[in-house]
Amino acid sequence: MTSIKQNINQITHQIENSIQKCGRNPDSVQLLAVSKTKPIELLEQAIEAGQRIFGENYVQEGIEKVQYFQKQHSTTSLEWHFIGPIQSNKTRPIAEHFDWVHSVERLKIAQRLNDQRPSELGELNVLIQVNTSSEESKSGTTAEEVMELAAAINKMPNLTLRGLMSIPANVSNYAEQLAAFKQLTSIQNQLRAQYPQIDTLSMGMSGDMDAAIEAGSTMVRIGTAIFGARDYKNKE
Ligand SMILES: *Cc1c(COP(=O)(O)O)cnc(C)c1O
Repeated sequence: MTSIKQNINQITHQIENSIQKCGRNPDSVQLLAVSKTKPIELLEQAIEAGQRIFGENYVQEGIEKVQYFQKQHSTTSLEWHFIGPIQSNKTRPIAEHFDWVHSVERLKIAQRLNDQRPSELGELNVLIQVNTSSEESKSGTTAEEVMELAAAINKMPNLTLRGLMSIPANVSNYAEQLAAFKQLTSIQNQLRAQYPQIDTLSMGMSGDMDAAIEAGSTMVRIGTAIFGARDYKNKE
């Protein structure tokens, strides 16, 4: 059986290889460990292996983990990213426990996160989730609406707009993956011209990480390749 530590080392090498192949700067891509549905013990193994940034999709599960690690590992400074769909009645616990939110796709959600962010926690880092494939069923704002939403978020005192996130259609063809990611990079470039603090492009998962890095990803969100396949029973 391979261990979490081996998986993290392997992914880290894969990231380094991809970065090198396309001539980007070393350390320009962060690894977000997506730990949704996974038990505390596996997160602890990841922490032992040096991992500090974690992504969660479900509010209740995520908060339980944040609180557990604040209590049990109060000296280890972890960063928690909320990456799942957001219902407006769940914004408060997200604003109160997470450091980043990747899945902001409408004004009402941004406004509520801003209003509910406790001031002692500092600004909440947010990414706008963009639907580059324009599929009705996929979540994310349209490319056309990004600028408007960015302008609104930029005015909110308790949020810092850091960039964009997307989950493109699940295809295995590298060229198709690359094309979808490049759309997001192009929107990001437009956005940066107006908001110079923007530095984060959250794209790439276990199955399409290399294409995402070639297209300019600065944060890959990896679940399966670190923690193994997920079991969704008992999930929301
Ligand atoms: C589950 C999830 C991931 C991780 O996907 P893997 O294919 O397991 O690496 C990344 N991003 C989001 C938004 C997810 O929901």
